[in-house]
Amino acid sequence: MSDSEPFVVAADHVVTPSGWLAPGWLRIAGGRIAAMGEGEPPEPAAYRVRWALPGFIDMHVHGGGGASFTEGGPDDVRRAAAFHRGHGTTRLLASLVTAPLDELERRVAMLADLADEGVIDGIHLEGPFLSAARCGAQNPRHLTAPDVAAFRKLHAAARGWLKMITIAPELPGALDVIRAAAGAGVIAAAGHTDASAEVTAAAVAAGVSHATHLFNGMRPLAHRDPGPAGALLDSQVTCEVVADGTHLHDTVIRLAARAAGPGNLVLITDAMAAAGMPDGTYRLGDLAVTVTAGVARLTPTATTPSTAATLATPAPSGRSAAPLGSASALGAIAGSTATMDQVVRHAITAVGLRVPDVAAAASTTPARRLGLSAETGALAPGLSADIVLLDGDFRLTTVIASGTATSG
Ligand SMILES: [Zn+2]
Repeated sequence: MSDSEPFVVAADHVVTPSGWLAPGWLRIAGGRIAAMGEGEPPEPAAYRVRWALPGFIDMHVHGGGGASFTEGGPDDVRRAAAFHRGHGTTRLLASLVTAPLDELERRVAMLADLADEGVIDGIHLEGPFLSAARCGAQNPRHLTAPDVAAFRKLHAAARGWLKMITIAPELPGALDVIRAAAGAGVIAAAGHTDASAEVTAAAVAAGVSHATHLFNGMRPLAHRDPGPAGALLDSQVTCEVVADGTHLHDTVIRLAARAAGPGNLVLITDAMAAAGMPDGTYRLGDLAVTVTAGVARLTPTATTPSTAATLATPAPSGRSAAPLGSASALGAIAGSTATMDQVVRHAITAVGLRVPDVAAAASTTPARRLGLSAETGALAPGLSADIVLLDGDFRLTTVIASGTATSG
């Protein structure tokens, strides 16, 4: 809630669910979009910018600004959420990586308190029911077989704030957990999976409605073995992509955007604590992560099994075309150091997606998936004044969250 005076934003383009107003204006009062229209604003504008987009909604993020949702206390959660808000993320799900069940139960309960406070908008459990073969930066020691009783315990500990769980559909018992999650109103997401296309399609029929970082942490799409990525794109599920220029080739993002359709693409960061921080050593859950040139990878250790099969190929775009080293000598990509303003800018300027489609993927579609459409996820009168202002190069200049503006 904002107690600030009403103010007006004027933009060359105000991006709306049906396109944009060019030029357009928004009047913010009482934390809401009180009015908006095309043309010159009816009163002096406090902000004059090139682009106004709905506030970003990140469904998959582990931390940022040196703080994490996966470890530390409530103040770390507040710091990580505030860091991402400064980069345009006005709503987010806090994502946990695989950990022992009792530890997950404690963290979920702590995050539920912060969701009650409005610091986060829910919880995403990325594990522990994942494929060891596709575990990426998840600690394989803590992976467990899908178990409905364990799911119900975690769900109860979250007190209504568990919004999404990532599951590998090929594991024994997975379909039961998928049905239990979908029945409880929790998004069942397929991810960190080695499933065939057929098994994935059966999981979609059982209730999977979302793809966790499509292509990353899953069996690759091949022309006679489309795997989970093929089956998920061939269904009506929403598909996350990490459009940071590292996790996926830009051509693959374009293909995914076209196949999923504008209403089913979801931009995420999958960021970890190192987002916004210098290169160095960080943690993701209980695993060490080394960040080099902004790319986070598991720190190779004598006991780390070869993760070559799970590696994402570094994309040349935006960086040196040379790979970051021999793939087999590198650890698995361990989340990202991206922020939503960066992936939005990359999706527009490097991938070449249309701005309204990017706004849908970064805000409107995740809002719909999270049941927040009546509150946020679009620039429309009556909704929360969650607005991101960008300059002509699509760089973020100001974030307005619930009507309160912060300049970046
Ligand atoms: Zn993740």
